[in-house]
Amino acid sequence: MTAKTMRAARLHGIRDMRIERIPVPEPGDDDLLVRVEACGVCATDSRKYEIGVNDGEYPFNPGHEWLGTVAAVGRGVKGWKAGDRVYGDVYGGYADYCLIPATAIPWSRGPLRLPADLPRERAIFVEPLADCIHAVHDQAKVKPGEKLLVIAAGVMGLKIVAEAAHLKHAGPGDDGARHAALVVEA
Ligand SMILES: [Zn+2]
Repeated sequence: MTAKTMRAARLHGIRDMRIERIPVPEPGDDDLLVRVEACGVCATDSRKYEIGVNDGEYPFNPGHEWLGTVAAVGRGVKGWKAGDRVYGDVYGGYADYCLIPATAIPWSRGPLRLPADLPRERAIFVEPLADCIHAVHDQAKVKPGEKLLVIAAGVMGLKIVAEAAHLKHAGPGDDGARHAALVVEA
Protein backbone atom coordinates (compact mmCIF):
# COMPACT_ATOMS: atom_id res chain seq x y z
CA MET A 1 0.00 0.00 0.00
CA THR A 2 1.51 3.33 -1.03
CA ALA A 3 0.54 6.92 -0.37
CA LYS A 4 -1.84 8.55 -2.84
CA THR A 5 0.15 11.73 -3.27
CA MET A 6 3.82 12.50 -3.12
CA ARG A 7 6.31 15.33 -3.25
CA ALA A 8 8.15 15.92 -6.50
CA ALA A 9 10.68 18.58 -7.54
CA ARG A 10 9.96 19.53 -11.14
CA LEU A 11 11.25 22.11 -13.55
CA HIS A 12 8.63 24.37 -15.07
CA GLY A 13 11.10 26.41 -17.06
CA ILE A 14 14.58 27.88 -16.84
CA ARG A 15 15.56 28.43 -13.17
CA ASP A 16 12.02 27.50 -12.17
CA MET A 17 12.05 24.35 -10.06
CA ARG A 18 9.08 23.75 -7.78
CA ILE A 19 8.44 21.24 -5.04
CA GLU A 20 4.88 20.12 -5.60
CA ARG A 21 2.44 17.55 -4.33
CA ILE A 22 1.22 15.34 -7.15
CA PRO A 23 -0.43 11.90 -7.43
CA VAL A 24 1.80 8.85 -6.96
CA PRO A 25 2.15 7.32 -10.44
CA GLU A 26 0.41 4.01 -11.14
CA PRO A 27 2.75 1.27 -12.38
CA GLY A 28 1.94 0.07 -15.90
CA ASP A 29 2.07 -3.66 -16.69
CA ASP A 30 5.87 -3.59 -17.15
CA ASP A 31 6.76 -1.03 -14.47
CA LEU A 32 8.20 -1.01 -11.00
CA LEU A 33 6.99 1.67 -8.63
CA VAL A 34 9.93 2.55 -6.39
CA ARG A 35 9.99 4.45 -3.11
CA VAL A 36 13.00 6.70 -3.68
CA GLU A 37 15.68 6.61 -0.98
CA ALA A 38 18.18 9.02 -2.56
CA CYS A 39 18.80 10.77 -5.87
CA GLY A 40 22.06 12.23 -7.14
CA VAL A 41 22.49 15.62 -8.76
CA CYS A 42 24.05 15.29 -12.21
CA ALA A 43 25.78 18.03 -14.17
CA THR A 44 23.03 17.61 -16.76
CA ASP A 45 20.47 18.45 -14.07
CA SER A 46 22.10 21.79 -13.38
CA ARG A 47 22.35 22.37 -17.13
CA LYS A 48 18.63 21.72 -17.53
CA TYR A 49 18.00 24.13 -14.66
CA GLU A 50 20.24 26.82 -16.15
CA ILE A 51 19.54 26.58 -19.88
CA GLY A 52 16.43 24.46 -20.22
CA VAL A 53 15.14 20.98 -21.03
CA ASN A 54 15.67 19.74 -24.56
CA ASP A 55 14.67 16.10 -24.20
CA GLY A 56 11.27 16.26 -22.55
CA GLU A 57 8.26 18.38 -21.72
CA TYR A 58 7.67 20.74 -18.80
CA PRO A 59 6.96 20.10 -16.01
CA PHE A 60 10.11 17.96 -16.04
CA ASN A 61 11.65 15.87 -13.26
CA PRO A 62 15.32 15.48 -14.21
CA GLY A 63 16.51 13.10 -11.44
CA HIS A 64 18.07 10.05 -13.09
CA GLU A 65 20.60 8.75 -10.54
CA TRP A 66 18.43 7.26 -7.85
CA LEU A 67 17.91 4.25 -5.65
CA GLY A 68 15.08 2.97 -3.56
CA THR A 69 12.82 0.11 -2.59
CA VAL A 70 10.21 -1.46 -4.83
CA ALA A 71 6.77 -0.46 -3.55
CA ALA A 72 4.61 -2.11 -6.25
CA VAL A 73 5.12 -4.14 -9.43
CA GLY A 74 3.15 -4.12 -12.68
CA ARG A 75 1.07 -7.19 -13.52
CA GLY A 76 3.46 -8.37 -16.22
CA VAL A 77 6.68 -7.95 -14.23
CA LYS A 78 8.70 -11.05 -13.45
CA GLY A 79 11.66 -11.34 -11.08
CA TRP A 80 10.90 -8.32 -8.90
CA LYS A 81 8.84 -7.98 -5.76
CA ALA A 82 7.93 -5.31 -3.25
CA GLY A 83 10.81 -4.70 -0.86
CA ASP A 84 13.60 -5.32 -3.41
CA ARG A 85 16.27 -2.62 -3.42
CA VAL A 86 16.83 -1.13 -6.82
CA TYR A 87 18.88 1.44 -8.72
CA GLY A 88 17.24 3.37 -11.55
CA ASP A 89 18.53 5.68 -14.26
CA VAL A 90 15.31 7.01 -15.78
CA TYR A 91 13.96 10.52 -15.14
CA GLY A 92 11.64 11.15 -12.23
CA GLY A 93 13.99 10.59 -9.29
CA TYR A 94 13.38 13.91 -7.57
CA ALA A 95 10.23 12.57 -5.94
CA ASP A 96 9.05 10.27 -3.17
CA TYR A 97 8.15 7.63 -5.79
CA CYS A 98 9.42 6.93 -9.29
CA LEU A 99 8.46 4.52 -12.07
CA ILE A 100 10.94 2.47 -14.05
CA PRO A 101 10.21 -0.11 -16.77
CA ALA A 102 11.32 -3.56 -15.56
CA THR A 103 12.89 -4.34 -18.94
CA ALA A 104 15.34 -2.42 -21.09
CA ILE A 105 14.26 0.62 -23.09
CA PRO A 106 16.40 2.31 -25.77
CA TRP A 107 18.51 4.35 -23.32
CA SER A 108 18.21 2.34 -20.10
CA ARG A 109 18.98 -1.29 -19.41
CA GLY A 110 16.32 -1.23 -16.73
CA PRO A 111 16.48 -1.51 -12.96
CA LEU A 112 19.60 -2.82 -11.28
CA ARG A 113 19.31 -4.93 -8.16
CA LEU A 114 21.21 -3.50 -5.18
CA PRO A 115 22.41 -5.33 -2.07
CA ALA A 116 20.29 -4.36 0.92
CA ASP A 117 23.37 -3.40 2.94
CA LEU A 118 25.13 -1.20 0.34
CA PRO A 119 25.22 2.30 1.87
CA ARG A 120 23.29 4.80 -0.21
CA GLU A 121 26.23 7.20 -0.14
CA ARG A 122 28.11 4.64 -2.25
CA ALA A 123 25.20 3.16 -4.20
CA ILE A 124 24.19 6.57 -5.52
CA PHE A 125 27.26 6.57 -7.81
CA VAL A 126 26.21 3.51 -9.84
CA GLU A 127 25.02 5.55 -12.83
CA PRO A 128 27.97 7.99 -12.94
CA LEU A 129 30.33 5.00 -12.61
CA ALA A 130 28.60 3.31 -15.55
CA ASP A 131 29.19 6.49 -17.57
CA CYS A 132 32.89 6.41 -16.65
CA ILE A 133 33.29 2.74 -17.60
CA HIS A 134 31.56 3.54 -20.89
CA ALA A 135 33.90 6.49 -21.42
CA VAL A 136 37.07 4.45 -20.80
CA HIS A 137 36.14 1.29 -22.70
CA ASP A 138 33.66 2.29 -25.42
CA GLN A 139 34.43 5.92 -26.18
CA ALA A 140 38.14 6.50 -25.47
CA LYS A 141 38.90 2.78 -26.04
CA VAL A 142 41.85 3.02 -23.65
CA LYS A 143 44.30 0.12 -24.00
CA PRO A 144 46.79 -1.25 -21.45
CA GLY A 145 50.04 0.70 -21.71
CA GLU A 146 48.47 3.88 -23.05
CA LYS A 147 48.68 7.12 -21.14
CA LEU A 148 45.55 8.92 -20.14
CA LEU A 149 44.89 12.58 -19.45
CA VAL A 150 41.81 13.34 -17.38
CA ILE A 151 40.86 16.99 -17.23
CA ALA A 152 39.10 17.86 -13.95
CA ALA A 153 39.48 15.39 -11.10
CA GLY A 154 35.96 15.55 -9.74
CA VAL A 155 33.80 12.56 -8.85
CA MET A 156 33.69 11.29 -12.42
CA GLY A 157 37.26 12.22 -13.33
CA LEU A 158 38.54 10.16 -10.41
CA LYS A 159 36.29 7.24 -11.39
CA ILE A 160 37.70 7.37 -14.92
CA VAL A 161 41.22 7.21 -13.50
CA ALA A 162 40.25 4.29 -11.25
CA GLU A 163 38.63 2.39 -14.11
CA ALA A 164 41.57 3.02 -16.44
CA ALA A 165 43.94 1.84 -13.70
CA HIS A 166 42.11 -1.51 -13.76
CA LEU A 167 43.45 -1.98 -17.29
CA LYS A 168 46.83 -2.51 -15.71
CA HIS A 169 45.55 -5.96 -14.88
CA ALA A 170 43.68 -6.39 -18.12
CA GLY A 171 45.92 -8.79 -19.96
CA PRO A 172 49.07 -9.39 -21.96
CA GLY A 173 51.12 -6.52 -23.31
CA ASP A 174 50.83 -4.46 -20.19
CA ASP A 175 54.20 -3.43 -18.83
CA GLY A 176 52.75 -1.97 -15.67
CA ALA A 177 53.71 1.51 -16.78
CA ARG A 178 50.22 2.90 -16.86
CA HIS A 179 50.03 6.54 -15.89
CA ALA A 180 47.06 8.67 -15.23
CA ALA A 181 47.63 12.39 -15.10
CA LEU A 182 45.18 14.62 -13.35
CA VAL A 183 44.59 18.23 -14.23
CA VAL A 184 42.46 19.86 -11.59
CA GLU A 185 40.20 22.57 -12.89
CA ALA A 186 40.91 25.94 -11.33
ZN1 LIG B 1 23.75 11.84 -14.99
